[in-house]
Amino acid sequence: MKVGVVKEREVGEQRVALIPEVVAKLVQQGYHLCVESGAGDMAHFSDEDYRAAGAEIGYSIEEVWGSVDVLLKVAPLRDREVEWIRPGTTLISFLNPLGNPWQMQHLAERYITAFALECIPRTSRAQSMDALSSQAAVAGYAAVLLAASNLPRFFPMLTTAAGTIPPAKVFVIGAGVAGLQAIATARRLGAVVEAFDIRPAVKEEVQSLGAKFVEVPLEEETVAAGGYAKEVSEAAKHKTQEAIAAHVHSADVVITTAQIPGKPAPLLVTERMVASMKPGSVIVDLAAEQGGNCACTEPGRAICHQRVTIIGPINLPSTMAVHASQMYAKNISTLLKYLAPKGELVLNFGDDIIDAACITHEGQVRNPRVLELLHPAQTLATTV
Ligand code: NAD
Repeated sequence: MKVGVVKEREVGEQRVALIPEVVAKLVQQGYHLCVESGAGDMAHFSDEDYRAAGAEIGYSIEEVWGSVDVLLKVAPLRDREVEWIRPGTTLISFLNPLGNPWQMQHLAERYITAFALECIPRTSRAQSMDALSSQAAVAGYAAVLLAASNLPRFFPMLTTAAGTIPPAKVFVIGAGVAGLQAIATARRLGAVVEAFDIRPAVKEEVQSLGAKFVEVPLEEETVAAGGYAKEVSEAAKHKTQEAIAAHVHSADVVITTAQIPGKPAPLLVTERMVASMKPGSVIVDLAAEQGGNCACTEPGRAICHQRVTIIGPINLPSTMAVHASQMYAKNISTLLKYLAPKGELVLNFGDDIIDAACITHEGQVRNPRVLELLHPAQTLATTV
C-alpha cells in the first residue's frame, strides 16, 4: 500500500502530516511512503530527512496526489485539490465536513473514501488518534506564550533589589483540553491562575493544576451527550456574565477557549468587561475562528480596545509546527494502522471509530450530519 504525505498549500499552514521519525516506523512495518517534495519544509523537516527515513520523494502532483492509495494531510482541502486526488484513494485529514458539506459531496462523487480527524470519537479507546485534543493542547500552551509576550508585565513574582513584583493574574475561561494546558503553562510561568467552565465536573482538574475554580451555580443542565458543554438559556448566560465580570476586571490576562460543538462560540467577555480591565491587559481568544468569546475579538488580528490588547489567533497550533506535527503524526499514523493493520484497508463500519470518522465511501456521503446539511428538506421528510 502506497501512503502519500502531501505539501500543505493553505496560507499559514506550517504543519506536516507525518514527521520523518514516524515515517521510519511505518516503512519498517512495510508501508511504502511517498512524501511530496517540500512537504516538511515549514515544519523544519527536509526532503533529505524523509529520504533517510526510507520515504520516496515525489516531485509532482501526479506522483503523490494522483498515485497513492492513502493520502495524509493536515488542513482541510482547497476545492481544486479535490481534483488532484485519484478516484479510489483514501484520504485522512482534518476536513471541516460540517463547514464544507459540498466538498464532502464532491469527494463522494469522485469515489474518494474520506476520513475526518475532527470526527474521531472523544473516547479513551480513540485517544491516541484524537488530533483535536493534541492540537488543542498545543494551542493552549501557545496562547499563554502569546499573552506573556504581549503583556507589559512579568508573569512570575520577583523579589529583587529594584523592588518586588507581584505575579500576573491569569483568568482562563473554558477548561477543556486547551484551557487545562493554558492553566498548566501559566502556572509554570509563575502566574496566579483562576479558571471558569460551565461544566462543574472540571473543578477538580482545575484545582489539581494549582488554579482556583470560579463557581457559577446554574439551575439547568450544562453538559450534553458525550461530555461536551451545552448551549444554555439567556438567563444562564446573563448570570454567567455577571459572575465572571469581577474576575475579568482583576485579571492581567484572560484566555478564552469556550466552545460548543456545532454552534458559534458563546459570548462571555462583553465590551463593558474589556473596558473594566487595567490598561495593558491582554485577552487571547482561542475561540476566534468560531466567532470569539470576547465581543471585541477580530479573528486573525491583534487589536487594542480601551488600552487592552485583544488577540484572536487563527491556527495557533501551526505556529508550533515541530511538536504540533509530531503529535499530529502520532494521531494520524495510529488511525492509519487501525484502518490497515496488515497493510490493506479493512473498513468495518460496525466499529464506532471507523463509522464516526468515515465521511464518504463508495460514492456516497455517509455522515448523517453532513447529509442533513446537503439535503435539509429530504432529511426532514424522512424524519416526519
Ligand atoms: P471544547 O473545545 O468543545 O470546549 C472548550 C471548553 O469550553 C469546554 O471545557 C466547555 O465545557 C467550555 N465551555 C463551553 N461553553 C462554555 C461557557 N458558556 N462558559 C464556560 N465554558 C464553556 O472542548 P474540548 O476541550 O474539545 O473537550 C470537551 C469535552 O471532551 C470534555 O468533556 C472532555 O473531557 C472531553 N474529551 C474527552 C477525551 C477522551 O476521553 N479521549 C478527549 C478530549 C476531550
